[in-house]
Amino acid sequence: MSDAPTAQAVAPSAALQAVPRSGWHVATVAATHRETPNATRIELDVPGWPGNAAGQHLDVRLTAPDGYQATRSYSIASSGSSTRVVLAVDKLPDGEVSPYLVDDVRDGDMLEVHGPLGAFFVWAPAAETGDRRPVQLIAGGSGVVPLYAMAHAHAGADDPTPFRLLYSVRTPDDVYFDDELGTLADSAAPLRLDFVYTRRTPDGWATAPGRITREALEAAVFPAAEGPRVFVCGDAVPTSPQLSPLATYEGDIVGRNIVEGPKHSPDYASMATSVYTVPPLASVGLTEAAARQAGFAVDVHTNDMLDWFSAKTYAETVAWSKVIVDQSTDRILGAHFVGHSGQELVNIFGLAMRFSITASQIRENIYAYPTFSSDIKHMLGHG
Ligand SMILES: Cc1cc2nc3c(=O)[nH]c(=O)nc-3n(C[C@H](O)[C@H](O)[C@H](O)COP(=O)(O)OP(=O)(O)OC[C@H]3O[C@@H](n4cnc5c(N)ncnc54)[C@H](O)[C@@H]3O)c2cc1C
Repeated sequence: MSDAPTAQAVAPSAALQAVPRSGWHVATVAATHRETPNATRIELDVPGWPGNAAGQHLDVRLTAPDGYQATRSYSIASSGSSTRVVLAVDKLPDGEVSPYLVDDVRDGDMLEVHGPLGAFFVWAPAAETGDRRPVQLIAGGSGVVPLYAMAHAHAGADDPTPFRLLYSVRTPDDVYFDDELGTLADSAAPLRLDFVYTRRTPDGWATAPGRITREALEAAVFPAAEGPRVFVCGDAVPTSPQLSPLATYEGDIVGRNIVEGPKHSPDYASMATSVYTVPPLASVGLTEAAARQAGFAVDVHTNDMLDWFSAKTYAETVAWSKVIVDQSTDRILGAHFVGHSGQELVNIFGLAMRFSITASQIRENIYAYPTFSSDIKHMLGHG
């Protein structure tokens, strides 16, 4: 899910002022309701909930009898100062948490929630922010949840800001907040609703099922000349890794190409990624196999770092790195980590790759000590 408005976000100071502070709360399930064949609406009573802005999310933490915990984020469909918090959860096949929330949660069950979270993907009435730009909401599937919260807040405040919601959904049966959206569209606050059905349309629908096209987008959304604030939420197009920093990077390229002409293209070679497990997994650039397949003659520096001072200090259970260096240029082609603060180290290697800092140069740098990054020189074969 996208975690930031794609255009002209509300000024951070205004948004932050509107956003209450987060914390952990014990919530009681007050009501559940089958939202779609595959999703459940869950109403939670959360004593001490500080209220939330429209568009924010929270984390739900489940604890098994043996102490095992799983935490997942869910957008909040409600907003304002109420301690009644509404979620809508879609069931993912073989997911760990969502099947439980969709099929098994019952009234009176207790869940731990952390929030409200997310300071920037929020909308507040023009009377509070002074922001009168039109608002374009674009949703895919369950991504409509925070956008529904915004449309609901908009109607609740009788706000005159023009709103449009373009909602891409599989079938008419899969529409979240179906009745409520109809009511909002009829309310005094201006809201235009457009649907794109990807698998099955209602009877008599003018267009065949399919994904949002350029034409559909142009027909439904506010023209750029009107300077809308745009909130997009849902699954991303899988033509590049679906990561928020990458979305920002690609958006920047689109913007520069619009202004300067089509001369910029994305470079994904030094895109660092991380899996936030314990221990973390982190990776940037080519694997050894991919580098060899691409014809590079490589030096491969593989280290089990479990005996290293920093790993021992933090009692790490796994501390492993592999750095691939091009023999002819001394350029770093890839770096991969398990543990050892790899989610931070990977950024240093990404920086080196992007700006052509060689393996010798990154090894010769002087690092604050003791830190995980001070181990980089050892990772590259310097004792
Ligand atoms: C800010 C935010 C807001 C969100 N809001 C909502 C919301 O309002 N509603 C909503 O429904 N969702 C929302 N999500 C998504 C939600 O957080 C969960 O990701 C979703 O419910 C799936 O969790 P899960 O535990 O069921 O699946 P997971 O166990 O996390 O698995 C996800 C998928 O990966 C597959 N998978 C897991 N492990 C493996 C493996 N080893 N190999 C291959 N495949 C694997 C699973 O089969 C599953 O299909 C939001 C996410 C974010 C970040």
